[in-house]
Amino acid sequence: MARSRYEAEHEQFRVTCREFLHREVRPHHARWERDGIVDREVWRKAGQAGLLGIGVGPAYGGGGEPDYRFPVVFSQEIMWARATAPGFVAHNDVIATYLTGQTTEEQRKRWLPGLCSGELIAAIAMSEPDAGSNVADIRTTAVRDGDSYVLNGQKTFITNGENADVVVVAAKTAPERGAQGISLLVVERGTAGFTRGRRMEKLGWHASDTCELFFDDCRVPADNLIGKENAGLAYMMAGLPRERLSIATVAVSAVERMLADTLEYAKSREIFGHTVGSFQHNRFQLATMETELTIAQVFLDHCVAGLNAGQLSVTDAAKVKWWTTELQVDIANRCLQIHGGYGYLKESAISREWANSRVQTIYGGTTEVMKELIGRSLGL
Ligand SMILES: Cc1cc2nc3c(=O)[nH]c(=O)nc-3n(C[C@H](O)[C@H](O)[C@H](O)COP(=O)(O)OP(=O)(O)OC[C@H]3O[C@@H](n4cnc5c(N)ncnc54)[C@H](O)[C@@H]3O)c2cc1C
Repeated sequence: MARSRYEAEHEQFRVTCREFLHREVRPHHARWERDGIVDREVWRKAGQAGLLGIGVGPAYGGGGEPDYRFPVVFSQEIMWARATAPGFVAHNDVIATYLTGQTTEEQRKRWLPGLCSGELIAAIAMSEPDAGSNVADIRTTAVRDGDSYVLNGQKTFITNGENADVVVVAAKTAPERGAQGISLLVVERGTAGFTRGRRMEKLGWHASDTCELFFDDCRVPADNLIGKENAGLAYMMAGLPRERLSIATVAVSAVERMLADTLEYAKSREIFGHTVGSFQHNRFQLATMETELTIAQVFLDHCVAGLNAGQLSVTDAAKVKWWTTELQVDIANRCLQIHGGYGYLKESAISREWANSRVQTIYGGTTEVMKELIGRSLGL
């Protein structure tokens, strides 16, 4: 694996991540996959190991690390360990960003130390049964009443939804203004009128809890508004490039792992007196996939450098998200084929990679939506 773009401190951090995953995640992972959820305890252990809130300031208990290569290293190790949960990536790379950027000092003091210690688990709730790709269609409303907002509506597909203690919820505070009338509010565990629906059974990522959330006359303190009222869309647009980059990081890391395993298999499995990898078709497949991986790594690095410099554009984030996740799906398929019938068995790692890869082109904005964004940048 080409890792020249990382420095000694990243490699040191890699060891911390790897040891943590080996010690605290791998031994429980099969049970979590069966249960559809992880033990809360692992979040606290991750906090103790310094793996939560990597980019959050030390004053709030975080790592204070602005270099996005550290979260990239963590993602690489998570994928190398084949851990489908806990949802550290969403917690660290997506929600922590919303809670650091537009929040007040009082809010940061209230939520960030818990996020960094693992006492508080975070989720973000944008999607609804009738509004996924088009956030302007969300129907959840938040009506100001004195010093509260009263929330009504439903969210679906929420990662960490069941375990979450703080949920960043997108709701309409001015429905007549469409997408310009959306605000972000933090709903905390135990708030009256906030309930969770069924745990959703998925094709992959079984250990990652995904569920529906319901808000019935749920009264949220006005102090839980993030930033300004009706500015939610702008905050989401600002946050989505980072989320898309984090999904691309997962994609490239998964491809690295799948290719390493498939190469090993192709070198060891013999048929007709030859190894699987020695047949020209398979050799060319592996050579092509290796080339594609290199291109993906280079583009990902370019985008990570862009994010570090505060210059990752919406368009580049869309490009890296759709291209790497489509590559992941395609490579999972081709690698499974090289494994033959053994690749189709549930117990094989490649069959799980195949199932886990599929959602990557869907969440965080589908491939089609990414191409719409790129098309718009071309003036189309
Ligand atoms: C496992 C999982 C975890 C998730 N976690 C979260 C989470 O934590 N928080 C959250 O808010 N959401 C989450 N989601 C939701 C996810 O972001 C949405 O599923 C996604 O945005 C797509 O929305 P949709 O499912 O409603 O599909 P739809 O919007 O109904 O799209 C259906 C199809 O139409 C296509 N389409 C849509 N618009 C266009 C267009 N303009 N041109 C061409 N084709 C188009 C789409 O690409 C797709 O193929 C998660 C989803 C899954 C499956």
